Amino acid sequence: MEENIWGEALSQFNRAANILKLDDQVVELLTNPKRIIQVSIPVRMDNGKIKVFQGFRVQFNDLRGPTKGGIRYHPNVTLDEVKALSFWMTWKNVVADVPFGGAKGGVICNPKEFSQGELERLSRGYIEAMHKFIGAEKDIPAPDVYTNPQVMAWMVDEYHRIEGHNVFGMITGKPLELGGSQGRAEATAQGGIYVLEEAIKKIGVKKPLIAIQGFGNAGKIVARLLSKSGFKIVAVSDSKTGIYKQDGLDVERVIAHKEKTKSLQGFKGVKEITNEELLELYVDILIPAALEGVITAKNVENIRAKIILELANGPVSAEARERLYAKGQVSIPDILANSGGVTVSYFEWVQNNMGYFWKEEEVLEKLKEKMVVAFDNVYSASKEFKVDLGTAAYIYAIKTMVKVLEYRGYIKR
Ligand code: GLU
Repeated sequence: MEENIWGEALSQFNRAANILKLDDQVVELLTNPKRIIQVSIPVRMDNGKIKVFQGFRVQFNDLRGPTKGGIRYHPNVTLDEVKALSFWMTWKNVVADVPFGGAKGGVICNPKEFSQGELERLSRGYIEAMHKFIGAEKDIPAPDVYTNPQVMAWMVDEYHRIEGHNVFGMITGKPLELGGSQGRAEATAQGGIYVLEEAIKKIGVKKPLIAIQGFGNAGKIVARLLSKSGFKIVAVSDSKTGIYKQDGLDVERVIAHKEKTKSLQGFKGVKEITNEELLELYVDILIPAALEGVITAKNVENIRAKIILELANGPVSAEARERLYAKGQVSIPDILANSGGVTVSYFEWVQNNMGYFWKEEEVLEKLKEKMVVAFDNVYSASKEFKVDLGTAAYIYAIKTMVKVLEYRGYIKR
């Protein structure tokens, strides 16, 4: 892993750019963000005092459509991180073949310490500060780490308050009752599973044991869906601890415990392990579904899983992906593995624009179709260029973007 996350994002891009022998002007065009917005958001806290939070939005590239990407609330948010995440969104949206550019937002805060009222005022404050730059045809936010449909609902309502009318397509990941789409809540996990099924067909692992890092929107739901289809989940973790049971966890009981106590700690009949230990377990499939930078040159030699499904953004460094590939392991890159989230966000936006909503089966069928095509495109590039799937995903996405640059007249055809 590069020391900083933006450096890491660039090094993923550069591996593919070097193979494609990209021209310097193209590299320059594709690696500089279009717009960086930083705002101070004053929030009245429950104790009556005002606290000022720093909020960011990076709109990296809008050459393929309005920019799109989630908003993260986390104490470790930095501009560098938001920039890297917006860069990843740009390439993810190409791989997923949704007509969007890439963006990301973030607020430095610890939402776990907030009351609902404080969370609402912060979320409204973010839109108040950013609304000029956001919109269904401009830039469309969505949930990310520690934001959810309720936060999206406050945001769409605040936009309504400012504009004087509803614009449901200005944000996705909304509740079903307020312009949301069937299947959006499970989309990241479900999309990941469709891709995983394709990978298993190619690689062939029988009766796999699975470990999942992270127990939020991606991790918890992927655990639930996989265990429902008969897969054995031997370990899961949240930000505080991991739990391990060799003959498989009862995932629904784990979810009930987590919802009740807000933690995995204290769950009976399991071995407590650390997040680091979880990554190094003897499992067939490892699913990092929390934060970036967890598998790097430092621990890659201890990673044993045959398939790594990157449901988080940026969990595996470019160098680690290459080393896994050399060891015969397969890391399915984030910009493919977790693109089910933004794919159903796209469906939500389409439904909002036409004011007509699809049934869940219809959404899932369309999602599966897109995920299978995305996997095939990346897999073919990996065979053609004899590179890991991460580099292959960038090769595929950059080649597409170069065509866009040509048609738009930035460079000669
Ligand atoms: N935050 C999610 C991601 O990283 C979803 C983005 C979206 O739906 O716009 O892909």
